Amino acid sequence: MGGSIEERSFEELSPVDAGAGISLVSEAVCEQVVGRPEAFTAVESVFAAMASGAAYNFPVVREAIGHADALYGFKSGFDRAGMVLGVKSGGYWPGNVDKNLTNHQSTVILFDPDTGQLRSLVGGNYLTAVRTAAASAVSIAHLARKDARVLGMVGAGHQSTFQLRAALEQRNFEKVVAWNPHPEYLSRLAAVCEELGMPFAAVEREQLGAEADVIITITSAFEPLLMKQWIKPGTHIACMGTDTKGKQEVDPELLASASVFTDEVAQSISIGEAQHAVASGLLNEADITPIGEVINGTHPGRRDDLEITLFDGTGVGLQDLAVASAAVELAQAKGLAGQVSL
Ligand code: NAD
Repeated sequence: MGGSIEERSFEELSPVDAGAGISLVSEAVCEQVVGRPEAFTAVESVFAAMASGAAYNFPVVREAIGHADALYGFKSGFDRAGMVLGVKSGGYWPGNVDKNLTNHQSTVILFDPDTGQLRSLVGGNYLTAVRTAAASAVSIAHLARKDARVLGMVGAGHQSTFQLRAALEQRNFEKVVAWNPHPEYLSRLAAVCEELGMPFAAVEREQLGAEADVIITITSAFEPLLMKQWIKPGTHIACMGTDTKGKQEVDPELLASASVFTDEVAQSISIGEAQHAVASGLLNEADITPIGEVINGTHPGRRDDLEITLFDGTGVGLQDLAVASAAVELAQAKGLAGQVSL
């Protein structure tokens, strides 16, 4: 033996050098091992690490590839606190629905931060939904009034039921009110409420604002769906749908009058809900607080029962890596992870 790796034959390489021990965690296993509590803990921890400077996201790449109308990209980052390094790669293929596949497709790839070696391949579709729901749930846990009783849902697409289930666990909610631009989708939310024994009502947007103590928006809208004057004092709003330049779910005046929190300020002002309020001069970047500061206790969070708090959940790569890392750990512990070598 001896000499550099390049000088040695393949047979001489140790199993580690040869890339042994790559874990495979399928979509089905992710669903089995990562529930809402595990996702909540992973997302809360990584938001805290981002705010303390221990974790950071790398610039996002997102491109129209000029084939199949697809948008493809990757979100990547490093969490020094959790020692998680990796990338979520995937995007949006609008024609998938005709092939009986989910339009959003993604895979998480984790590397060993000490060596750069490939460590795990993890299905990212279920994890994306559960980590997005965990983000709004973390915001409710830290920012909503303790006496919140009515949950308002704006949006009834694929993500909405994940959002609903995670949110309902954060406070003693007694009722759900919901609105969607395509009302026929609302039966999805109604079915979850029926399963959980939670009263449910489909309402108009003004009534939703008047009744709800906590509101989640999770649509693909490009215009404000909720106006400032409809929202009552003390409401907590989690804006989760706006994750791209041009998308918008609420009135920019609402952000101007609220205390605004986010997962990552850079994304909030560029592709998140705050992009419009910042561009029109109604909100300053400096007025947006990373929610990790509230989790870490370096920001007090909600000041009183009349304040409107708004969480701009833009979706960061570190969320994906955090839940994928949890999935690998849990799948390995339960003997459910596959194993391959390159
Ligand atoms: P979906 O396609 O299943 O549902 C879309 C929802 O938006 C439905 O309620 C639909 O009625 C509504 N809608 C569609 N077009 C609209 C329009 N022009 N105006 C207003 N509403 C419209 O999508 P989904 O998977 O539930 O995702 C919802 C949104 O959340 C998307 O914008 C998606 O990009 C975003 N998202 C954000 C994150 C994050 O981390 N913040 C993560 C995943 C998805």
